[in-house]
Amino acid sequence: MTSQPIAGEAGFRPASRIASVGISQILKIGIRAAEMKRDGLPVIVLGAGEPDFDTPANIKQAAKAAIDRGETKYTALDGTPALKQAIGEKFRRENGLDYATDEITVATGAKQILYNAFMASIDPGDEVIIPTPYWTSYSDIVKICGGIPVLVPCDAKDGFRLKPEQLQKAITPKTRWLLLNSPSNPSGAAYSAENYRPVLDVLLAHPHVWLMVDDIYEHIVYDGFRFATPAALEPKLKPRTLTINGVSKAYAMTGWRIGYAGGPKALVKAMAVIQSQSTSCPSSVSQAAALEALTGPQDYLEERRESFRQRRDLVVSALKRIPGISCRTPEGAFYTFADCSGLLGKTKPDGTRILSDHDFTDYVLEAGHVAMVPGSAFGLSPYIRISYATAKSELEEALRRIARCCEQLT
Ligand code: PLP
Repeated sequence: MTSQPIAGEAGFRPASRIASVGISQILKIGIRAAEMKRDGLPVIVLGAGEPDFDTPANIKQAAKAAIDRGETKYTALDGTPALKQAIGEKFRRENGLDYATDEITVATGAKQILYNAFMASIDPGDEVIIPTPYWTSYSDIVKICGGIPVLVPCDAKDGFRLKPEQLQKAITPKTRWLLLNSPSNPSGAAYSAENYRPVLDVLLAHPHVWLMVDDIYEHIVYDGFRFATPAALEPKLKPRTLTINGVSKAYAMTGWRIGYAGGPKALVKAMAVIQSQSTSCPSSVSQAAALEALTGPQDYLEERRESFRQRRDLVVSALKRIPGISCRTPEGAFYTFADCSGLLGKTKPDGTRILSDHDFTDYVLEAGHVAMVPGSAFGLSPYIRISYATAKSELEEALRRIARCCEQLT
């Protein structure tokens, strides 16, 4: 269960398309943590899905200059020509991918790209294969669009990566898309070119299955990991691949809401139809900021990556010292997804027992004042997701508290 359906409040009948979709567990944990903070409790939240850095100054300056130039009107439907050109150059420079301007689309965040793509391509009953654990929005967006998320659990021992035989088994005549995310939210696991190969080979044998890849954490990879993206690895798949990216995570621009994608012209055109009847275009000022992000200096990406790496190492080594918790070292993103199966069945100081990852995160929030997200929110239990996009001193304190809470279990 990833989210709780909206309760039918008096006088309101929710549309059937949102019957099984609701407010995410992550949001609920955030609400509870905020309540506790208001009550004066020293809560540390390890749930953030965004970098704790500020948007770089040159990007902010570009936005201010755009306002001063009067770039405050509607823009072209799915991106200004200048931004599309910069995105095309980014794809060529960083990914070895050649997309023409009419194969590029810009939206209000990568989330809207996903939404546009599914709205434009899914009919009721169409299936979308989603390796699990997965970012909660994937399955909810598919459901809103009338599709069926086909969740395929991926083991920690396989690096949380989809195995070719699993993909082969999940494909049916109804399969419309396979959705891959590397590095992943929530696991931080990433596919190297070698990891991708057998999965792409399965797709080659199934021409009716299209591939959507979410590369939004591309720049947050560690230890020399070489980021790879499927449309570049296998050109035969490019005509049925949508390569999604955005500026939110790499450039600390979550609030600016700019995401983009490269893909086949017909799909991109259909996505523009959806966008034309929702947001009309992404924010003009944010597009100017994203243009600067993609064309301006890139040196801070390395500095920030190094800062995230240090924090990843801190969190992983502290978690590994806690009996009952184990975790692999993620290749990227800013999350760890740790196995807490060794704590299930243990008794809390109040005499009740921990029966699930949700029980454990609840216990640590109430007793240790640290907010984490249970694996159940991402479709795989028993795990905990820790976001380490938080100051080192806070992380150290949070991990001390988690360890103390675990010591108190019998
Ligand atoms: N894709 C993944 C895997 C994410 O974790 C997120 C945000 O948390 C997004 C996409 C959304 O990005 P955006 O801010 O561009 O909508």
